[in-house]
Amino acid sequence: MPFSAIRLYNCYTTTSVVTFETTFYIQCQGPRVRIHHLNCGSHCPVGGFLFDGSSKGLLANICTHCLLVETADCLVLVDTGYGLKDVMRTSAGRLPLTWPLILNTRLREQDTAIHQVKALGFSARDVRHIVLTHLDFDHAGGIADFPEATIHVMSGERQAAETARGFVARQRYRPSMWKDVTDWRMYEAEGEAWFGFRSVRDLRGLPPEILMVPLPGHTFGHAGVAIKSDGRWILNAGDSFMHDGQLDVVHPHCPVGIEVYQAIMSTDRRARLDNIERLRELKRNHGSDVSIFASHDGVQLAAMRGTTPSG
Ligand SMILES: [Zn+2]
Repeated sequence: MPFSAIRLYNCYTTTSVVTFETTFYIQCQGPRVRIHHLNCGSHCPVGGFLFDGSSKGLLANICTHCLLVETADCLVLVDTGYGLKDVMRTSAGRLPLTWPLILNTRLREQDTAIHQVKALGFSARDVRHIVLTHLDFDHAGGIADFPEATIHVMSGERQAAETARGFVARQRYRPSMWKDVTDWRMYEAEGEAWFGFRSVRDLRGLPPEILMVPLPGHTFGHAGVAIKSDGRWILNAGDSFMHDGQLDVVHPHCPVGIEVYQAIMSTDRRARLDNIERLRELKRNHGSDVSIFASHDGVQLAAMRGTTPSG
C-alpha cells in the first residue's frame, strides 16, 4: 500500500538551480487526494523577461507544470511534459524541428515525469491515469513512459491531433508520441457546470475530485483540469493562458514574447481571449476557493511549491 507510509521525496530541478525538497507526511487521516507539483520540461528562450516577465538575464525560464495526484488507490498524472524518448533522442520525428529551437528547450532526464515518479518512491505501473489538457508535444511527450495508463482527453483534441493540417498543427501534434496508446477515454462537455464553466465530470476510473473544464482556443479541444484537495480547488489551466499577469484582476498584462507565441499557436483567438477573461472573473470572484495556474509560468510553479523561482 504505497500511499499510507512515511514518504521522503526530492525532485525539484529548474533551468539553473537544483533544489531539493524534503517532505515527510503520514497519510492516515489525510485528504483523499494529494498533489505534487512537477516541472516536466524547461525552456529558456533568448529574450529573458520579454518571455517570462521576471528573468534578469538573457534567457527566460519557462517551465512545464504538471501534477502528480495521489488518490486513494492510484496515481494520476495531469499532463506529462517531455518523455525519456525525447531526452534520449532515440526516436526520430518525435519532436518538431521549430519550437524546441525557438524555445531553447532543455531536455533532461531528471525533468521527466517518470524520473520524478520514481524519485517519489513509486513505479510507472502506479500511474493508472493520465489526464491531458491537450496533445501539444510539450504536454504529451511522456505518455510512452506509462504504457499501462489510461489516457483521458477531450474528443475534439484527439480529432484535431489526428487530422492535423497546416504547418503549425503538424509541428505541435506529434502522433509518434501516442502511437502505442491502446486505452483512450474521450469526452464531450456535458456535466454539471463548475463555477459557471462547462465541465466533464465522472472521468472513468477517477474520483469525483478530478474533472475537466473545456477551455478551447489554444487548441480545438484544450481543457483545464480541476482537482479538489483539502476543501479547495486547484485548476491546471494548461496553455489557456501563459503568464500570471494575464489574470491580474486590476491590471492585466503579458510579456510581449509570450503574447506573440500565444497568437501564433492559437486556433481560435476569440475563444482564447474569452476564456482568459472568464478565468480572470473566476479569480476575482472565487479566488479564495480556486487556485488557477498556467502550465508555463515558473513563478506560479514556485509559489505553489513554496520555493523560489529560478532565472
Ligand atoms: Zn505548452
